[in-house]
Amino acid sequence: MITRFAPSPTGPLHLGHAYSALLNHDRAKAAGGTFLLRVDDLDQSRARPEWEAQLKDDLRWLGLDWPEPCRRESEHLGAYEAALDRLWDMGLLYPCHCTRRDIRDALSAPQEGAPVSGPDGLVYPGTCRPAAPPTGPRPEDTTLRLDMARACAALARPVKFEETGAGPDGQTGSIETAAQDMVATIGDVVLARREMGAAYHLAVVIDDAVQGVTEVIRGRDLFEATRIHVLLQGLLELPTPRYHHHRLIRDETGKRLAKRDDARAIALYRSEGRTPREIRDMVSL
Ligand code: GLU
Repeated sequence: MITRFAPSPTGPLHLGHAYSALLNHDRAKAAGGTFLLRVDDLDQSRARPEWEAQLKDDLRWLGLDWPEPCRRESEHLGAYEAALDRLWDMGLLYPCHCTRRDIRDALSAPQEGAPVSGPDGLVYPGTCRPAAPPTGPRPEDTTLRLDMARACAALARPVKFEETGAGPDGQTGSIETAAQDMVATIGDVVLARREMGAAYHLAVVIDDAVQGVTEVIRGRDLFEATRIHVLLQGLLELPTPRYHHHRLIRDETGKRLAKRDDARAIALYRSEGRTPREIRDMVSL
C-alpha cells in the first residue's frame, strides 16, 4: 500500500491537515506499506519555502516519516506539460478567455436557468467552447479548459472508482458517473491557467500515478473532484487508485478549518507545550 499526504506550502498546518496526514501514515504503516509526503507547490505565487520547512518540521514532530527527497510539484512541470500536450492532441482542450465576471454574467442571462455549482465553482457556460476541436500547436500562457462532453465520449465508458470512505452525502462503494452528469454537474474544468501552467486536477493525477499511490486518503471536500481525476486517469491511460474521503475537522461552531485558522495551527499547539498524543486525541485518532 502506498499513501500520500500532499499539502500546499501556503500557510500553517492545522488540525485538519494533521488528521489527514496521520490517517495516511497510520494506514500505510499498518499495512506494511509506504507513506509519502508530496509538496503541492504548483501555485508559485503563494508557495513559500518557510511554510514548506515548517510543515515538514510539524509532521516530523507528530511522529511521521517519509522517504526523502519528497516530490515537489514545481520540479516536475515538464510532466504536466506533456499531459496537456497529449490532451490537446486528442482534441479535448480549448483556450478560454473568460473572466470570472464574464462567466457570472453569461450565467445570469434569462435563458440559462439556475447556475449549477461544481467542484471548481460555477459550471462553465461554454462561451469559448469551439464547435470543432482547435487545430495547430497548443497555445502557451492561455487558460485551457477540458471539453467535458468530448472527453467523456473519448473515454467511452462511465467514470468509475472505488470509495472506501464516504462522500458528503454518504456515497460509498462503487461510484459511477454517467457522461451527461459529468457535463451537467462538473462541466468544462480548467486544466491549465495563464501564467500558472497545469492546474491541480491534472498535476494530482500525474503525481499519484508516477508515485504508484494505491490509496488516496483525503478530505471529503475533494470527493466531487475525484470524478475529474478518474476521467483524466482514463484518458491518459493511468491506473485509478482506491479512494478514501475522510471526515473534515471542524471548529466548535461547525465550520471547516481553513489555512487561516491559525488558532489551530500545529505550531501554536507545540509552542503551548502540547504533545503529539494530545493532537491525536483532538482529532480522535
Ligand atoms: N494540495 C491539495 C490540498 O491540500 C491536495 C489534495 C489531494 O490530496 O489530492 O487540498
